[in-house]
Amino acid sequence: MDKLGWHSLGTSFACPCGATHSLPIRACVVAPGAHRDLAEYARAHCGPHAFVLSDENTRAVGGDAVLSALASAGKRITEKVYGNDPIDATTALGEEVRAAAGGCDFLVAIGSGSLGDLAKYAGDKLQRPVLLYPTAASMNGYTSGIVAVKVNGLKRTLPCQPAEGIFADPDVCATAPARMTAAGIADFLSKSSSSTDWRVAHRLRGGYFCERPREFFDTTTESVLHAAPLVGRGDRGAYKTVLEALMLSGFSMVLAGSSAPASGGEHLISHFIDMKAALDGSPHDLHGTQVGVATIHCLGLWERILALDPARIDIHALADSQPSEESIRACIDADWGPIAPEVQAQWAEKRLTPEALASELSRFRDLLPSLREECKGDLLPPSAVEDAIAASGGPVRPEDLTVPPEVYRDAVLRARYIRNRFTVLDLARELGIE
Ligand SMILES: [Zn+2]
Repeated sequence: MDKLGWHSLGTSFACPCGATHSLPIRACVVAPGAHRDLAEYARAHCGPHAFVLSDENTRAVGGDAVLSALASAGKRITEKVYGNDPIDATTALGEEVRAAAGGCDFLVAIGSGSLGDLAKYAGDKLQRPVLLYPTAASMNGYTSGIVAVKVNGLKRTLPCQPAEGIFADPDVCATAPARMTAAGIADFLSKSSSSTDWRVAHRLRGGYFCERPREFFDTTTESVLHAAPLVGRGDRGAYKTVLEALMLSGFSMVLAGSSAPASGGEHLISHFIDMKAALDGSPHDLHGTQVGVATIHCLGLWERILALDPARIDIHALADSQPSEESIRACIDADWGPIAPEVQAQWAEKRLTPEALASELSRFRDLLPSLREECKGDLLPPSAVEDAIAASGGPVRPEDLTVPPEVYRDAVLRARYIRNRFTVLDLARELGIE
């Protein structure tokens, strides 16, 4: 098997890791004039009746091009256009889209995060192909097999069939606000920390891990670091680089069968903020913007963790210094009120008894020298991510997010309770690093 890349689209193969990996996305185009590729794809592979989802902003940006190309390809079109206010993907909205698209042969979403997720949600339920026309290089979800939706007010990532085709025009995405592209750069670079979380979770707790998804990134990280300042100056070629990187990041999740390669402790911090926003109406920021600031924090934790001297890791002192189970449970109740039972259940799946914790710490101490070597290829210095986000026009400090400072501070300390996935936030706390 060749190294994984764009040619892997539509393939599946048995991997030495034991899994059969497949990439059911059939077309992914990042090029000027991508609306024509979308229409060509629809002409060749989709039925006669298109359902096109957009909002007033994204329709103004890409609507004319996509709709007239689809019409030229002989497609009948039913449209749904949401208003100007930012929409939150909820299961209720997903069901609304599903009902509206029910009589159509395929779905097309013109837009970024939420619109794409709503189309993927509805397409999955209807078993109809979905084609995406991104209008911003703002996140890596276009090519993923999950949708982020609120279920009863709680942010959840639900598995779904990935979009069949993604058609992104860098010239169109370049018209999005700089903050959105900076968010995309941050969402991509977060995999430096998250893929390390994934690898170390495997080494310490035995969870599933495979080396292959990282092949998508071999040279991509350098390209994105190089493109970041050019994006800040409006260079069109740099938008193409960022869009391609985001597509590859999504592929890595589809291949792994979970978000683990691209979602670790930094994403938990962002999800904590989003969940707080849903619960008590506090403001949140763009997904990638929050993830970027949190990535700088998490890479700093990794730097300190891997620099520890094994001889100075005092296992018994560390085991004694962990917060008690009662105090954690009380903390979760206070944070999450009506949804605390769900959070308690997530935490219960990964918490360790004092004995298991001591043995994990001793395993870590023994593995530390080899972990340093194994993680070297993925980890970036926090300053490299900070410089890239800043150069592309995004915020790098918690106080520059549109998030209350106390919510961000709580997220850093307590986001590890909201999900059963073992991340750097757990390891840092176990090692007394904050
Ligand atoms: Zn993300």
